[in-house]
Amino acid sequence: MATSEAAATETPGERGTVWVENDVQRLWVPHRMAYVADHHQPDHTDCPFCAAPSHDDKESLIVARGKTSYVILNLFPYNSGHMLVCPYRHVAQYDDATPEEIAEIGLLTQIAMRAARTTLKCDGFNIGMNQGEVAGAGIAAHLHQHIVPRWTSDSNFFPIIGRTKAMPQLLGEVRDLIAATWADPPDTGN
Ligand SMILES: [Zn+2]
Repeated sequence: MATSEAAATETPGERGTVWVENDVQRLWVPHRMAYVADHHQPDHTDCPFCAAPSHDDKESLIVARGKTSYVILNLFPYNSGHMLVCPYRHVAQYDDATPEEIAEIGLLTQIAMRAARTTLKCDGFNIGMNQGEVAGAGIAAHLHQHIVPRWTSDSNFFPIIGRTKAMPQLLGEVRDLIAATWADPPDTGN
């Protein structure tokens, strides 16, 4: 929920809180409780990021595969085209990854940005890793880098919801679009 909407439905200072206006946009994502509610962290036997590469790319929403790492669409996206770059190995921390994995995660991130810019016409990105449950990682046990495309108009809550509603259909379409552009994205001048 965007801050502006919260302000419209809640009286400042309700529940004894101190109301401090700021420009932080808050997006509530209750579906993520499926990941975090019981605080279960998978080992390599029940980890979705370990399992995904053993399935067909289309079925598992894998966009591209490298030697040590791969790129997959997030099943619970913050925004259209939300990708995750994961090592194949079940390691949790960035400093557990090998130099080869670090290099390829970086390279795949660059290619994913170019492919998303070309196919989705996004204006910017949020890129980063949450390390540990306490830092917001849903599946903290398996390292993954988020690549979240951003559009100028998406800072409002409702366009995000508008996109999210159609996700079950669009996830496959977005995967196909990005995967098709992956190997040779046109020069976008960036
Ligand atoms: Zn894993």
